[in-house]
Amino acid sequence: MEPAGLGTGAEGIQPAGTETGTGTEGKQPARMGTETMEPAGLGTGTEGTELTGTEGIQPAGMGTEGIGQAGMGAEAAEPAGLEPAGLRTAGTGTEGIESAGKGTEGIELAGLELAGLGIAEMEPAGLEPAEMEPAREAEEPPGSPALPAEAPQGGPPAAALSGEGALPGRERERERGRRGAGAPGSAGRAARGRARRAPGRRSGTESARRPGVTVDSSKAKTSLEALKISLRQLRWKEFPFGRRLPCDIYWHGVSFHDSNIFSGQVNKFPGMTETVRKITLSRAMRTMRDLFPLEYNFYPRSWILPEELPLFVAEVRTMKDSNPSWKPTFIVKPDGGCQGDGIYLIKDPSDIRLTGSIQSRPAVVQEYICKPLLVDKLKFDIRLYVLLKSLEPLEIYIAKDGLSRFCTEPYQEPTLKNLHQVFMHLTNYSLNIHSGNFIHSASANTGSKRTFSSILCRLSSRGADVKKLWSDIISLVIKTIIALTPELKVYYQSDIPAGKPGPTCFQILGFDILLMKDLKPVLLEVNANPSMRIEHEQELSPGVFENVPSPVDEKVKVAVIRDTLRLVDPQKKKRKDTQCQSPEQAPGGSEEPPDAAPSPEAALPSLCLKQVFPKYARHFSYLRLVDRVAALFIRFLGVKGTTKLGPTGFRTFIRNCKLSNSNFSMAAVDILYIDITRRWNSMGIDHKESGSPGMCLQAFVEAFFCLAQKKYKALPLHKQVLSLLELCECRLAALHGKRLVWGCGLAQPRGALRAAGTAPGPGPARPHGPPVLRLQKSSHQLRALMCRDRTGS
Ligand code: ADP
Repeated sequence: MEPAGLGTGAEGIQPAGTETGTGTEGKQPARMGTETMEPAGLGTGTEGTELTGTEGIQPAGMGTEGIGQAGMGAEAAEPAGLEPAGLRTAGTGTEGIESAGKGTEGIELAGLELAGLGIAEMEPAGLEPAEMEPAREAEEPPGSPALPAEAPQGGPPAAALSGEGALPGRERERERGRRGAGAPGSAGRAARGRARRAPGRRSGTESARRPGVTVDSSKAKTSLEALKISLRQLRWKEFPFGRRLPCDIYWHGVSFHDSNIFSGQVNKFPGMTETVRKITLSRAMRTMRDLFPLEYNFYPRSWILPEELPLFVAEVRTMKDSNPSWKPTFIVKPDGGCQGDGIYLIKDPSDIRLTGSIQSRPAVVQEYICKPLLVDKLKFDIRLYVLLKSLEPLEIYIAKDGLSRFCTEPYQEPTLKNLHQVFMHLTNYSLNIHSGNFIHSASANTGSKRTFSSILCRLSSRGADVKKLWSDIISLVIKTIIALTPELKVYYQSDIPAGKPGPTCFQILGFDILLMKDLKPVLLEVNANPSMRIEHEQELSPGVFENVPSPVDEKVKVAVIRDTLRLVDPQKKKRKDTQCQSPEQAPGGSEEPPDAAPSPEAALPSLCLKQVFPKYARHFSYLRLVDRVAALFIRFLGVKGTTKLGPTGFRTFIRNCKLSNSNFSMAAVDILYIDITRRWNSMGIDHKESGSPGMCLQAFVEAFFCLAQKKYKALPLHKQVLSLLELCECRLAALHGKRLVWGCGLAQPRGALRAAGTAPGPGPARPHGPPVLRLQKSSHQLRALMCRDRTGS
């Protein structure tokens, strides 16, 4: 058997996200702070930075043998044909790779000091004693002896809420074991028990007075168990088999299209799966990096295969020529793959497997981060949960805690000898669960899957600046979402055209982040369907498996789902609206009318999801240029429900924005359209309308950049694009204003323009409210731009 990740390229995209874990027991690190971190591989070492010393328990039996002994993890159930052999070595380059050179420098992280901008206001979960189970290591002074693995059985909110808080640690575990995750009623019983004890509970009559929020969970799939627990905690009404009448919320396990819905809210955006696929994400990140190189260097340099193979080869050759000490490693990841499926490492572009899979299955090849931060000598990554609550206006929340998934073999920097060792290089839970070294732990701070907060505590206790780390992570998340929103908006208008009844959307995303040894976060990927399973399979005796609860998963995931629901609660919105309309009903600004039943909110812990956008919008709004290009694209799409721009739409865009002139004829416009469109359509991108003709958003963005570069030659790209955007927006606003004026029978375009100019002034030239306001605002820029246009073009 071979781990799916390594080399087989086996098909079979799994909807569930991947989680990795590992683990050795959490032992007290010998080196206690980032200051004392040993730079990995400098000079001699092959190891990355370690946060633990030699005391870190070594997993017994370091080999890759023993797959299956640890039991099948829930998330690991999918890839078929797993084999313990590990990665097949693809590399044929030289031995003894030194990574002190450009191997990791290639990915330079901005190291934004956002703490100074207020971003670090968000307290990392790991540092909030009220809301987290403190990591025992963190309580120890640096250099203290290693501690037993058992974590303190504090009273984390999730445990308390599931009715287990009263049980002593061991008893609680036994109780969990008895319950079994497969028994859907058990968690509910616990939740009901808790509800009985919860302060501020409602009597039957009170409950009857407030109709519960209705949730259709019939399509929830693997997130069902966590959803059920969340709904019981909220005392909302679940419809596990669907409902004839509309529900307030629809919980889908896979995609927006899991069922046809025309009202309420659904937990998926149309097009999200396509938008976060490896290739699409890489393209979006590259576009943003072209515009803002410093801001977007948290994503490893990537090339798309097969189309960019020559570019990849040429760029690597150039970089090697300019820096002969650079001995890079690359990671090849099939598009649409997950759980490490088909991934392999190479040392040289010539090692890419051109036969078979690459041709039939496009992939991304990416710089491999050779010097990750290690804990207990092991590589790990972070799964952070991010709620995209709304696309327009953009609203983003980040969960204060996530998961850390560990490798199961001590890390060494990649060499030809170890390139194939999946348990050393890939952090996927679904792969490492097959290692004999995988450790299931009921504690959040030990084992192969831990909470991110436990890592933060550990880092903090060693003097690391975890606020800065959080600030960098928040920044990474916001920038990534900003890169994704243009494409999402195109899908959104296509599936839910304005004026057509449809649901509103929100979505929980899984961000996979790797920390470099200097604590800089690197984005690995975004999962549209992060696994929300809260149990894993355990092999009781050979061939006999049982679902057992995973306390770490439950703690993190139930909180994320429950608090997502609290944030999108339709009744909360209604209550707010009512208060706005009749403030006298809510004296003192209380959310509840005085006679209302106490809200279940009173019994719940504070939200684990923290808003980061629009909260920090002013730091990031300047990055939203492609969003504005997408708005132009959507405006000229013409036909409702389409995602591609036809030649007429493109011509209309050029005409209305007055971009054609003697230097750029309409014939040249057509050639530009045909050239770019043909190239994008030949790439075989997995797109909603891949087979159909027309210009997709990314092609339009390329054409727009092309026009901007032509028009504003001397400026840097982002200024070229911004100038053209402002010009287009102003000209369209002016055109819109004229149309409004003429449409109203006020045949005074000059008057309209005057109104659009400086002072609105009295008189008939003021047609409608909002459009004129827009003109007033933008005409200012219009004049400046007209001047610039004359000189710039
Ligand atoms: P999948 O969706 O198949 O899990 P990922 O992109 O998440 O693919 O990669 C799988 C694993 O490979 C990650 O969890 C991480 O451990 C490792 N990995 C991926 N990209 C890199 C990289 N650029 N540098 C170092 N490790 C990486």
